[in-house]
Amino acid sequence: MDCLICRELEQKLETRRMQFAEACCSASYGVSTKSAAYRNVDMEQARSELQDHRSVCAYLCRKPPALTTRAVHASRRPVAA
Ligand SMILES: [Zn+2]
Repeated sequence: MDCLICRELEQKLETRRMQFAEACCSASYGVSTKSAAYRNVDMEQARSELQDHRSVCAYLCRKPPALTTRAVHASRRPVAA
């Protein structure tokens, strides 16, 4: 959730998605179908980059949910080790 790379890649994908949508808009007016195709490739690339990273990231950055909820309660009383 707090991974910077995830956020960066998500942003990149979002940007590319918007660019693709724009290109599709122009394509529908017959301006350039080619650029829409390129944008689509760009978008898919960004998507697979994000997916690739996530498959590693989920493993590296994963925090057990039980641990975080326990930490909230632990702040109210001393933790028994
Ligand atoms: Zn990540």
